[in-house]
Amino acid sequence: MSVLIFIELDNGSVKKTSLEAVAYGAEVARLTGTTATVLALGKADAAELERIGNFGATKVLHAADEKLSHENSLAYADVLAQAVEKENSKIIIISKSGLGDAVAARASAKLKAGIVSGVTDLPVINGGFSVKRSIYTGKAFSVVEIKSDIKILVVKKNAIEATEGSGTATVETFTPVLRDSDFLASVGQIEKASSELSLTEADIIVSGGRGMKGPENWQPLLDFAKSLGAATGCSKPVSDLDWRPHHEHIGQTGIKVAPNLYIACGISGAIQHLAGVNGSKYIVVINKDPEAPFFKAADYGIVGDIFEVLPKLTKAVQDLK
Ligand SMILES: Cc1cc2nc3c(=O)[nH]c(=O)nc-3n(C[C@H](O)[C@H](O)[C@H](O)COP(=O)(O)OP(=O)(O)OC[C@H]3O[C@@H](n4cnc5c(N)ncnc54)[C@H](O)[C@@H]3O)c2cc1C
Repeated sequence: MSVLIFIELDNGSVKKTSLEAVAYGAEVARLTGTTATVLALGKADAAELERIGNFGATKVLHAADEKLSHENSLAYADVLAQAVEKENSKIIIISKSGLGDAVAARASAKLKAGIVSGVTDLPVINGGFSVKRSIYTGKAFSVVEIKSDIKILVVKKNAIEATEGSGTATVETFTPVLRDSDFLASVGQIEKASSELSLTEADIIVSGGRGMKGPENWQPLLDFAKSLGAATGCSKPVSDLDWRPHHEHIGQTGIKVAPNLYIACGISGAIQHLAGVNGSKYIVVINKDPEAPFFKAADYGIVGDIFEVLPKLTKAVQDLK
């Protein structure tokens, strides 16, 4: 019996959010006196799979069939259910994402498993099995008890810190049955909309609002983001005005992000924007208006003109490097 962790791969590398899921699963395994096994599907770098041991898993099941290299929640849920049976797993951990939620929902139906999505903390296991989850776009939490034999936890980013230690995971080839009925639609080719860092995976995000005044003024923000190795985002009006592309729109009606550090430049902090960023570990706000509501949600704030502050911050980061 082991805790089973479903991971996502991007071009052979394990996604950062999945490494957090591995660290989370390893901790659950420790709490339940068992071991953590990872399920990796499709193309994967051998060194990446071995590295998983550094995050606390002791075994990796690798189903390398090329057909599994393209995201397919139907097939992934089927393979996951087969891995659950093989490992006799009672607890499944998946990191929260569009794919993670889809695989978890399908696997839950197949395995008759209780499922909780948006988990923010380790489970409390004292006779029962309860987990805390984020609700109402991060404005509240609920504690949910799972009573089924098999339990699926879909874990939010930053629920646990994925610190790389040293450990060893044995990588085992896994050959599940692949059913044609699971491949009803197949990916022909992938065209990336941009080569920029993905907002949902980024550790640091620098985001701009209407305070940037116009698309022609974005360079200082881009320079600052580049100096930090950060992804860039924006508020809704900014993308509505076509100052920045729509895939950068963060908030209730845009992308929900949870980086370690979110830096908001010239964004007022409307509730709809906050709904997309309140999973961030640290929030820094730069705004010339000391009364801007965003300061109430910030860990650190700079009251000042972005066009003066940003070049100074960029220089400070470059000097530090
Ligand atoms: C149904 C609905 C859904 C919505 N969904 C979203 C969403 O998903 N995401 C989202 O972002 N919004 C969303 N909104 C819009 C939201 O209510 C706000 O209108 C929006 O977030 C404001 O954007 P902003 O902060 O960039 O602009 P503003 O509110 O105009 O704020 C600009 C800020 O920049 C500051 N500033 C100006 N000049 C400078 C300077 N030189 N230096 C420093 N600071 C400066 C100002 O003090 C101000 O605080 C939604 C609204 C509705 C009704």
